[in-house]
Amino acid sequence: MRKQIAAANWKMNLTIQQGEQLLNDIIAKPHHLSAHQQAVFAVPFPYLAMAQAKMAGKDNVFIAAQNCYTKKSGAYTGETSVEMLQSLGIQVVVLGHSERREYFNESNQMLADKVNIVLEYNCTPIFCCGEALAIREAGTQNEYVAIQLEESLFHLSAEQIQKVVIAYEPIWAIGTGKTASSEQAQEMHAHLRAVLAGKYGASVADNISILYGGSVKASNAKEIFSQPDVDGGLVGGASLIADEFVAIINSLK
Ligand code: PGA
Repeated sequence: MRKQIAAANWKMNLTIQQGEQLLNDIIAKPHHLSAHQQAVFAVPFPYLAMAQAKMAGKDNVFIAAQNCYTKKSGAYTGETSVEMLQSLGIQVVVLGHSERREYFNESNQMLADKVNIVLEYNCTPIFCCGEALAIREAGTQNEYVAIQLEESLFHLSAEQIQKVVIAYEPIWAIGTGKTASSEQAQEMHAHLRAVLAGKYGASVADNISILYGGSVKASNAKEIFSQPDVDGGLVGGASLIADEFVAIINSLK
């Protein structure tokens, strides 16, 4: 069975004290992760070491960075390399979130470089894709998202692509309270899997986890995750509330 993943994306929220309290609260609440399930916490860079120490030894729980730079090291003031992340024990990096694409000009080509360096260090990229409202309204979302995959991922080998987790996040559903319906999510996830199958074959495509993101919360997670091609979620707002995120973890199939 494909990995089913509940990934928290804290974005630029919380103080370290609040973040530590949130993790303590989540640990204290009953939740269960089977062997094929994972909980991931993408926390701000300055909190990675705290979160990593707190979750040390917990099965199927991973701390993730929200970004990294394309280079190994050097004179890049303010940037963070995968080597640095790895030296903290971090094994997962979120790449290409729509906020990074929009506010920090991350292009499909730059993301191809970031995917490469994350894989070079044997870490897992959670590669985000998704269309804006205007594209959805024009009805060209399938082509748009396929190009995001092609330009950032399709240079990878079949072995490499199976190490990538994809997160489909329609921009019109992020932080808006507006969720794609579970049918819309399933339709796009099935499309993404077909695009992957077209390039790499069905058995490779079947191994790749595709998460849904965009206003996932405790009240809708179970229905969205129950769709056959939805393998969990990347969760922003609701991941900042312990009860909500624990319920989302417990909604994984
Ligand atoms: P949201 O954010 O759950 O607050 O909509 C999702 C995301 O941007 O990863």
